Amino acid sequence: MSQTPPNFPANIEVQQETFENWDGVINVPNVWTCAPKSGADVVTVCNWAVSEGYTVRARGIMHSWSPLTLVSGTPANAKVLLVDTTKYLTALKFIPASGNQSAQVNAQLGATMLQLMEFLEQQAGGKGAATGYSFPHIPAPGNLTVGGALAIDAHGSAVPSPADDFNASYGSLSNQILAFTAVVTNSANSTVYSLRTFQRGEGDDKAFLTHLGRAFLIDATLQIVDNYNLRCQSFTNIPNATLFQAPTASTPVPAGSVASYVAQTGRIEVICYPFTDTCWFKVWTNSPTQPSGSVAVNQPYNYPFSDNLPGWVTNLLKLVTSGDPSLTPTLSSAFMTITSLGLNNIFAPLNDLWGPSKDVLIYIKDTTLKVTANGYAVRLARTNLQKSIADFATEFNSLLKSYQGRNLYPVNAPFEIRVTSLDDPAKVAAKNAQSPVISALTPEPIDIQNQWDTAVWFDVLTLPGTSGENEFYSDLEAWFTNTFTGTYGRPYPEWSKGWAYTPTSGPWTNAAYMQTIRDSFTNWDWEVATLQKYDQGNLFTNALLTQLFVP
Ligand code: FAD
Repeated sequence: MSQTPPNFPANIEVQQETFENWDGVINVPNVWTCAPKSGADVVTVCNWAVSEGYTVRARGIMHSWSPLTLVSGTPANAKVLLVDTTKYLTALKFIPASGNQSAQVNAQLGATMLQLMEFLEQQAGGKGAATGYSFPHIPAPGNLTVGGALAIDAHGSAVPSPADDFNASYGSLSNQILAFTAVVTNSANSTVYSLRTFQRGEGDDKAFLTHLGRAFLIDATLQIVDNYNLRCQSFTNIPNATLFQAPTASTPVPAGSVASYVAQTGRIEVICYPFTDTCWFKVWTNSPTQPSGSVAVNQPYNYPFSDNLPGWVTNLLKLVTSGDPSLTPTLSSAFMTITSLGLNNIFAPLNDLWGPSKDVLIYIKDTTLKVTANGYAVRLARTNLQKSIADFATEFNSLLKSYQGRNLYPVNAPFEIRVTSLDDPAKVAAKNAQSPVISALTPEPIDIQNQWDTAVWFDVLTLPGTSGENEFYSDLEAWFTNTFTGTYGRPYPEWSKGWAYTPTSGPWTNAAYMQTIRDSFTNWDWEVATLQKYDQGNLFTNALLTQLFVP
């Protein structure tokens, strides 16, 4: 094998590397991977790719499930060039407030979310209770690139509440973009690529705010908020029967239910092992000063019991689930016990932490259990939040039970629930800003008509290869599609995770579901045409995107 692909630009590092996604299901060895030092270098490799008939994929940390970068089974000799943004395209620049303009940050998109959050915390001029700046919410892992996060409309968990109500969007990170630089072909019949900076609100910009890797962005300017302190309480003793109880006409938000906590503090997360009666329930509260009894933290990743699982635990889990799956309930409750003991250790309690926003929002480390996940964002009215959670919990348990009746245990890791707002363009500090077109949080006419203001994010995790997983995920997907209809709500895929399941072939294989996705975005065709218009050489695509991005 030659040292570089044919005629590769001499001054740009390139070598063959293995591409492996988060759960290891996609593993492609010996893929040509380059590491450009600037946006101009990316342009150079794109123009090289056109002349040599290669496609180009931006590559961040590879912490994804869905095959947005490379699809499983990509052949060794495929003409695809990965562009590793993490090596050099990591510069961060603070833009202080001036006149009417609030502070902003410009990030090259190979920087990680942790690098960005640490940088923001160090900047002067913020007027919040914590130093520096932040976002209303962020994803849980620190080791994701900003580019990867923006590509898939990343999110954390928060809606405005009596505890905090920033004058900012509580939707996706994509909706915080004010400007960006992309590599594009900028005339109709040209396959020559160059850099172009787009301003939010100019028109075509909205196609790039969430793009699934169907474009290549170099940097983005993001709006930020004053940094704040958060308290994070973890409860392991609230019965699921209370958290997930169905509302009634007279008690739309039952005491102790998930929705009751959302109403108070706006920030929750459910992590619930199957076959257990309680879960790990997190409630964050904006707390400018340290509440009595809360332990102060000044760095992220504060749950070592879940981040540093020894390899033997994972192996044991694999052994049990493949050897004797009927032990799944026992193992599941053992995990819940480990969680509860880890959180409520009387010598070093972790169930009540307090610190600057990033330190209690970022908690997933690379060393956590590598499971697979499906994901949907259900858009609905806040008044239906508890009903959606109760309906989901009932369906999840009833599906588990019916599979158990057939001696199948397809789910051996938790389900998770988080809640955000939609991508409100009125909360973006740019004239004529419109929402990202294909974000799972884009307000569509149907949302406005039904006053849907909330998205409930549901994920179900399991070890990859668990018997029955694809059948279970297919059943659950059909339930989401058939339940959230009419005025109740509508489900959208969480792009980075599993969706479009078939029982035999698994995720991203259900053509009918893909059509449902296309039908549920009003401006889908415009999105497809616009991204195509700026990529005349068809560089930024792969087999999944080619299948999905059709009018
Ligand atoms: P990669 O996996 O390397 O790439 C993902 C996609 O982004 C690819 O299509 C790639 O081409 C594209 N891309 C990357 N950089 C660029 C660029 N500069 N220009 C154009 N396209 C680009 N998401 C959430 O929203 N919230 C969470 O809390 C959350 N938790 C997670 C927990 C775990 C354990 C894992 C594995 C993922 C989680 N995710 C979460 C999903 C994660 O945000 C996405 O998968 C994200 O895309 C990963 O970033 P990455 O740097 O690894 O991107």
